[in-house]
Parts: sequence; structure tokens; C-alpha cells
Amino acid sequence: MILNEADMALLAGLPGPFLDWYRKEARDLPWRQNRQPYPVWLSEIMLQQTRVEAVKGYYQRFLEALPDIEALAAASEEQVFKLWEGLGYYRRARNLHRAAQVVASDHQGIFPSDYEGILALPGVGEYTAGAVGSICFGIAKPAVDGNVLRVMARLLDSDEAIDQPAFKKKVSQGLEAVMSGELKAVLPGDFNQSLMEIGAMVCLPKGLPKCSQCPAQRFCRGHASGRAELLPVRQVKKPRRIEERTIFVLQRGEEIALCRRCDQGLLAGLWELPNVTGRLSPDEAMAQAAAWKVNPAVLEKALERVHVFSHVEWRMIGYFISCAAGAEQGAVEGQARDQAKELVWTSLHQRRLAHPLPAAFSLFLEE
Ligand code: SF4
Repeated sequence: MILNEADMALLAGLPGPFLDWYRKEARDLPWRQNRQPYPVWLSEIMLQQTRVEAVKGYYQRFLEALPDIEALAAASEEQVFKLWEGLGYYRRARNLHRAAQVVASDHQGIFPSDYEGILALPGVGEYTAGAVGSICFGIAKPAVDGNVLRVMARLLDSDEAIDQPAFKKKVSQGLEAVMSGELKAVLPGDFNQSLMEIGAMVCLPKGLPKCSQCPAQRFCRGHASGRAELLPVRQVKKPRRIEERTIFVLQRGEEIALCRRCDQGLLAGLWELPNVTGRLSPDEAMAQAAAWKVNPAVLEKALERVHVFSHVEWRMIGYFISCAAGAEQGAVEGQARDQAKELVWTSLHQRRLAHPLPAAFSLFLEE
């Protein structure tokens, strides 16, 4: 399925007004100051599912600590996670690190300059390859994310679900055809960024397009039909799975106990507070801690917290338990019965320096 002739004519009319608007109105963001692949790639990975304002500080700190691909490739995973701590979706950080190592080992440390080469890097999909390829190397490939899909659904007044592959494919093919034609002479990167920027600043989600400020108002079909605020359409989502967990803040003097998550699944390989699935009562929690051989003495307090991941929501009860001096080095069960996870005792200060914790757990240490 491809766009029809009228749709293609509409798309062909976008570059002129969008590029004019972009050159006047684009925000001055730190990653737009140069077109070097490393900072552009880093920013694109950080910006996935994360707001611009939240990314700015992380981006600056990451670049200060690891200023180029060689530095990232040579860094420890611990250092990369530490720099990522709080940004969420940790798989992005792991893939970024792996990709830098691939660039170092397979590309002599030079970021690939062709679309297929970029796309082959760990953690890089069509969106990121299109964004980095077009911005840094002038490659005529689109970068179609949720913002761009929303703008296109409104421009075309389309009732197709934007979260279905068919619509994304159609839009990608249409934009690539436009970019491979007249846009060859200008910068495809600016055109991609203009589409993203209009999505972020003008054609806003949740029924709030600012059509009077939009360079497409004259020819936008969604605006003309008066349906822009009702678009885009999405397929009904499956509700998030709710999971109850019991979290243990085991304290021994000034120290707390941490362990490592398994290498597979949610938050794979990251540090965590000891925890079990299900909601334990205070007595059951003390019995569980005793089974881990940490000499639980007093249950100090309990806190309830919720953390939402993309497909699952953890409803957590956290028990703060003082452990008697001389607690043995305990171990907690891993997912497999024979896989024990060793407990590591660390001070809160050292925890902040050396043991990055995902937000679902650090929530309990902010009290
Ligand atoms: Fe979106 Fe309105 Fe612009 Fe159409 S005119 S693209 S609905 S902001």
C-alpha cells in the first residue's frame, strides 16, 4: 500500500514552507550545534521516550565524561549506567555502549557514514539511522517517530491507526520519495528535523494543534476538515500488566544491601534492592529476610510506591529492616531456583558513586 497521487502532491509541497519555518523558529538545542555523528547519535538515543528538558543535563554530563566514541567504547558498563542513572530505559545505554565498541572494533573508530552501516549498529532502528544519517551525512532517508506520524495523520486527514506498521511504512515511503527528489539539493537532515520540530512545538498531541502558527495551515487537510483535534487515531492498547512486589531496604549500620538483577528481562543486569514478587505482610517480610540470613532485627517502617514501565506497572511495598551486626553475607533467589544473587553491602554515599539504581528502587532511598 502506498500513498496516492494527491497525497504525494501534498507531501511534495512540504519542504519549502517547513524548511523556511525551521530556519526561523527551531529551538537552539545543544545537540544542534554541530553535525558530528557521536553527539547527534547520543542525543537521538537519549531523546527516545524522554522529554527534551530532561535530556539536556544528561547529554552535557555524558559528553563531558565520555567526549568521543573511543572514550565510550573504553568505558566500563558501570560508568555508562551511572551516567544514565535516572534516565530510564537502560537497554538504550547498554546498546549505545555496545555500538561504540562495534565502531571501535569493526570501523576503526569511525562512525559509519552509510545508512546500512548505521542501521546495523546495536540499538539503532530505522528512525535513528534516518535521523543520524540525514543530519550528519545528508542521506535522503526519513526519520519517522510518533511526532512525525501525528503530523502526517493530520496533514493527510487520515483515519489509519498511526501505531500500525502499515501507516508508518506508507509515510516513510512517501517522505523518502520526496527527499530523494528535489530535496537532494538541500539538507535532508533539516527537513527531517523540521517535521520533528513541528510535531514537538506546533502540531501538539492530545488534541492541541496550534494551526494558526503552522506553515502547513494553508494545505493541511485535517485543519480544513476541522478534524485535526480528533487525530491521530490509535489502536486500542492492551492495558498494562499490574505486578505487586515487595522491596527490602536492608540496613546494617550505615550500609544497605544491593544485588544484581539477572541478565535477561526488565532492567537486565542492573543493581537493585532485594525484592520478591507478590505483596508480603510485615511478618512474612521478616521471615523472608531471615531466610536470606541477614539477621533481621527490627522492621522500622513500610512505604508504598508505584513505578510505571512501558508494559508493566509495579505496585510496591517497601520494608525498611534493620539487621543486627554480624549479619552474614546473604544471598537472595534469582529467577531460576539454583541461581542465587549475592548481596553486596554498601554505604549510601558509595551507592550514589558506584552503584546506579533504576528509579523503581531509588524511590525508596529518597525518603
Ligand atoms: Fe497540525 Fe494544524 Fe499544522 Fe495541520 S495545520 S499540521 S493540524 S498544526
